[in-house]
Amino acid sequence: MGKWVEQLNSRQILGILYGVCVMSLVLTATGAWFVRDNTVSPGELLTLRWIWMAGLVMFISAILLIGRPLINRMASQNERMRAKHEELEHVLQASKQNETKLQYRNELIEVLASKESLFDYSSVIEKIVLLTSAEFGALLLVKDGEISSVVPKEMTEEQQESLKTKSLLLKRVMISKLPAATSKKVADDLHEYPYYIYETVIPVMDPSDDKMIGCLYLARYDEQFDASEKSELNAFANQLAISLLRMRLYRQMQQDRKETAQLINSVREAILYLNYEEESVVGNRAFIRMFDDLQFDYQGYEELADVKIDIEQLAERVDQRDHFISYVEHVFDRKPPEEGLSISLDQGDCFLQVYAESIYRDGKLHGTMLVLRDVTAETEIDRMKSELVSTVSHELRTPLSSIYGFTELMLERDLKESRRELYLKTIHDEAKRLSFLVSDFLDLQKMEAGKQTFEWERVDLYELARDSIGFYQETTDAHHIHLDADSTQDFTIEADLEGMRQLLGNLLSNAVKYSPDGGNVLVSLERLEGQVVMKVRDNGIGIPSSALPNLFGKFYRVDNSDRRKIGGTGLGLAICKEIAKAHDGHLHVESVYGEGSTFICELPTSKEVVHQ
Ligand code: ADP
Repeated sequence: MGKWVEQLNSRQILGILYGVCVMSLVLTATGAWFVRDNTVSPGELLTLRWIWMAGLVMFISAILLIGRPLINRMASQNERMRAKHEELEHVLQASKQNETKLQYRNELIEVLASKESLFDYSSVIEKIVLLTSAEFGALLLVKDGEISSVVPKEMTEEQQESLKTKSLLLKRVMISKLPAATSKKVADDLHEYPYYIYETVIPVMDPSDDKMIGCLYLARYDEQFDASEKSELNAFANQLAISLLRMRLYRQMQQDRKETAQLINSVREAILYLNYEEESVVGNRAFIRMFDDLQFDYQGYEELADVKIDIEQLAERVDQRDHFISYVEHVFDRKPPEEGLSISLDQGDCFLQVYAESIYRDGKLHGTMLVLRDVTAETEIDRMKSELVSTVSHELRTPLSSIYGFTELMLERDLKESRRELYLKTIHDEAKRLSFLVSDFLDLQKMEAGKQTFEWERVDLYELARDSIGFYQETTDAHHIHLDADSTQDFTIEADLEGMRQLLGNLLSNAVKYSPDGGNVLVSLERLEGQVVMKVRDNGIGIPSSALPNLFGKFYRVDNSDRRKIGGTGLGLAICKEIAKAHDGHLHVESVYGEGSTFICELPTSKEVVHQ
């Protein structure tokens, strides 16, 4: 019967079951209907009981005969379904694992290919460890046959050190340049039972010269690396090799770029490089120092600054603005001029030689280097040379020719006593002038070289000013020289008397000399905390503002018509400046052209260091 039931399909079984149930129900219901109104006879009641009994027996037999095998069958079906479900679960898990591995693989490939990963070795080894389900691992970088660095994943310092120095497996791979694997039985106090650790090392080779550039080390417990994993690791090692080489190249390029930037930044000339291809402009350190009001992005000595160029703004401080703008515009229009340009900044404060150098790549104009060379010192030397020549030609030749002429006259002619005396006086005056010039020049040389000797003593500037004013007042009737100082104050300072006399004398003689129409000259003294301020003011011809920065330079003379007739060597103020400096003081000037000048000298009352 059980077999028969097993052969039936589920619908047939259910049909039979339902049929039996319905029949037993009909029998039971019919019996119940007859019994309902108690009109049945005892014989009929007996029959009815038999019918009920038969229905009940049929029902129970049907349950026993058909239901049990059915339940058994359902139970076995259930079992099969559960097994199938488990199988499916297993497949799902495996596919999930595969999916995760695929994801890791993709990520790894992405990491190896992307530029950002060039600095991220740790994410490479991390991905490989995850992908191979290894417990730990490391990427070892090899340089000249030696391990240069270790990038670990889940490895302690100790493990890394032991891998580097003690691992025979690694040593074997480094010698053979072939992948290798080992298994080790580990028994330690931490674990109850000994376990196996499987290690594999895959070399990373430079395909161009077959040199080892790195190694992949992976370790796993209780499961060997199978052949497919090993071949996959080899494939990764090849990709890693390309990535590492690319990284080396990139690093080298970065290094070269930094070195170039450092070289260009160390050049003293201001350099601006216009890259026509990239439409970018970079400047070196000297450039951004020279034009610090421009917009730029300067990251430091190892980088060139990105400069935002506004030609109008660049030319703002240039004295020869239009020339400069046209020059730079030519450079920006890819037509760099062959000849250079001389310009000055800030009204002659700084002189620049500008030139443009074209840079070609593959025969095509790639960019232009605009170089601005500071030639202020050279220009100053040139100016000094020409000033010296004109001083020599004027200040030396004039007295020399009168000395020569008058002595010749005296030698050749028989002169009257009065005339002889006049000639001799002229010769004496001119010789004196010459001698002053020579000693001025020598004094300045000495001071500049720090070889001038000063006698330090207490000098009363009030007394000195009074003496000097008296002396210079004697030389002129057209000027009135006054002293403005509170006589109750103490104007004594620690100074060299002769130096102070020379300083004040030069300022007074200039004040008189450069007030050709006469006028007032005022010497004032003021006592401040720790210093005395001495001023010499005149209402003379004044000094143009363009001349002020150079005024204290050697041989510098303001060259214009109103003072051409006034003699001089251009040494007086340079000497004054050096004397003030030797006294730790400060000399400067305020002047309005055409109205007069005030020379201000601030002198400390005592010197801490006594100059020899
Ligand atoms: P110099 O022998 O030419 O007077 P200095 O060194 O004393 O040489 O002065 C340098 C220049 O400064 C002079 O050529 C002159 O043009 C200008 N200068 C000096 N002092 C005055 C002043 N008080 N007023 C106007 N210009 C002056």
